[in-house]
Amino acid sequence: MVSGNRQDRIRIEHAQLRWEADTPVSGRFDDIYFNKDGGHAETAHVFLDGNRLRERFAAVETGDFTIAETGFGTGLNFLCARALWLRLAPPPARLHFVSVEKFPLRREDLSRALAHWPEFADGSTQLLAQYPPGAPGFHRLELDDGRVRLTLMLGDAIDSYSQLEARVDAWFLDGFAPAKNPDMWQPGLFAQMARLSHAGTTLATFTAAGFVRRGLQEVGFAMEKAPGFGRKREMLRGAFGGAERPLSAKPWFELPRLSARPRSALVIGGGLAGCSAARSLARRGIRVQLLEQSGALAGGGSGNRQGALYAKLPVKPTTQGMLHASGLHYSHQLAARLLQDHDWAPCGLLQLALNDKEQRRQQQLIDEACYPPELVRGVCAADAGALAGLPIGHPGLYFELGGWVSPPALCHALVEHPLIEHHTDTRIERLQQADSGRWSAHAADGRRFDADTVVIANATAARGLSHSAQLPLKPIRGQVTHGPQPGTLPALRTVVCGDGYIAPPLDGHYAFGATFDLRDDSETLRKDDHRRNLETLAGALPDLAAAIAQQPLDGRVGFRCSTPDYLPIIGPLPVHERFLEDYARLRQDRKWRFDTAPTHHRGLYISVGHGSKGLLTCPLGGELLAAMICDEPLPLARDIVDALNPARFIIKNLIRGSI
Ligand code: SAM
Repeated sequence: MVSGNRQDRIRIEHAQLRWEADTPVSGRFDDIYFNKDGGHAETAHVFLDGNRLRERFAAVETGDFTIAETGFGTGLNFLCARALWLRLAPPPARLHFVSVEKFPLRREDLSRALAHWPEFADGSTQLLAQYPPGAPGFHRLELDDGRVRLTLMLGDAIDSYSQLEARVDAWFLDGFAPAKNPDMWQPGLFAQMARLSHAGTTLATFTAAGFVRRGLQEVGFAMEKAPGFGRKREMLRGAFGGAERPLSAKPWFELPRLSARPRSALVIGGGLAGCSAARSLARRGIRVQLLEQSGALAGGGSGNRQGALYAKLPVKPTTQGMLHASGLHYSHQLAARLLQDHDWAPCGLLQLALNDKEQRRQQQLIDEACYPPELVRGVCAADAGALAGLPIGHPGLYFELGGWVSPPALCHALVEHPLIEHHTDTRIERLQQADSGRWSAHAADGRRFDADTVVIANATAARGLSHSAQLPLKPIRGQVTHGPQPGTLPALRTVVCGDGYIAPPLDGHYAFGATFDLRDDSETLRKDDHRRNLETLAGALPDLAAAIAQQPLDGRVGFRCSTPDYLPIIGPLPVHERFLEDYARLRQDRKWRFDTAPTHHRGLYISVGHGSKGLLTCPLGGELLAAMICDEPLPLARDIVDALNPARFIIKNLIRGSI
């Protein structure tokens, strides 16, 4: 993230509530969250009727509809809109609800507030089960088997909406009364609303304040007054007139819009990246053929028995930290939904501070970064030992949401969908696009697969396909060691990370590692690497390492796919030569204002370079790609989306003058 108030984004303060007869009142704003007499009748009148949602939902047929709101609060507006959607819109259609909240309610408060509405119990239960910890940034929740998606942005409204990419159909302009909350009702917010609107977008708000009406008129909304709810005399409704969106200051990161939602897709690669993309596409009604070169899914870098599920959070907000925090929440929900107990364990994770430098960093993270304790908290050595079930001689950080996941089990669960067909032993050598725009993938054995769109998700093998040959991908060898659980020691109860990681035993065996070797393409297990893994383990859990070392060892070699900036590559594939021509001027002047939209291979996307963090980044990466392909609200902030853009290396190299 590059915006100026990045530091603010990491500090999320929860709502300070006062309860008046079980109705939440904000202490900070001294205003109510919902009307005590008939809160949801007010929502229906102001926001649902104010945006004519009854007739619009009923007319939506198979398409999608996007609502964006300011001030998520208790989620009452969301639950009302969801209930109306489920009643009126046919099942293939999907509702996207985007909301922002600067002061999220604590889960206990949310639960108490929602208990008001037994008629929404089904939605409340799903919301509470996925309600994110108070970490800043975007959080994606899925309800009703994907018929309703909620993108909850934790942060300030103006800042968060400036990071959103979406085509909004209706606005719920909520938030406490303008007189009590002037910071939110700003021209900056209205400008973002206009940026995200199109001809036909409507808005409704409970307030009739003149400066709100004028501010919205100035950015292109035709506004009218309407009768307010109950004792309130007036409210406002509006409709956007439409305007061409100007190119941004970084036009090379503009995303292509497909003229129609594709009906079919090829996904090349059956690891976590490919299986995740396949699932996200299939859940949007797209028929997917998943093509994997090896004899089984998860045959490559995603093949380890147990992968640690955790985010190494930074002290100061970084793109990677924000991506990992959003990814951790999403992957955790996904694993909970898709996997059996044998295939994952949300058993918590300890990240030990094995030296003074790491101890100082962790202390700083606790003191300065202010992550919510439900995400991460500091523990002393004794507490770490109590959590792990084995003596530990170091303090560390404890991630309650962490744990381990079996990547192969997750891959198999992801592709279990009637619209996904997978072909193993299918090595794709060449991609070709017909004049019609359809893509063909040619396999080494002569078979051909056709579809409207393609996702390349085969890690470093992407360099073997001409369209993605230019990407700077590198394999990094990693050997994991497997050893029987020693009968002499109690079983480990949490994942423990230090310089390496070890998960609690699975089927009587520990898995730990992993080595990290560039420029090493040997697929053979090496005794010396087992020794290195044992030494690393001894740094965190010496007794366990000594006991395992007495037993016969086995293991697995895998190759991580890494990029120069250690961020994955997710997005549309640029036409390399066109980028070099169109943005050549960057070599002389990095501040040049271009008026050229970027040229992509239409319908060709990629998700690679997940390194050793695929469990965090692949599932959300799949959602991101599917949202781009289907022109839906993106599940990540724009700065992060840009940082993952496949064209970033061409642009960096042009600026540096190295190409
Ligand atoms: N729509 C909510 C519901 O259905 O429960 C009620 C919203 S409540 C009246 C207003 C909400 O706006 C509060 O939760 C408040 O914390 C939030 N808010 C106030 N100022 C904000 C800002 N600048 N950015 C984001 N959220 C803000």
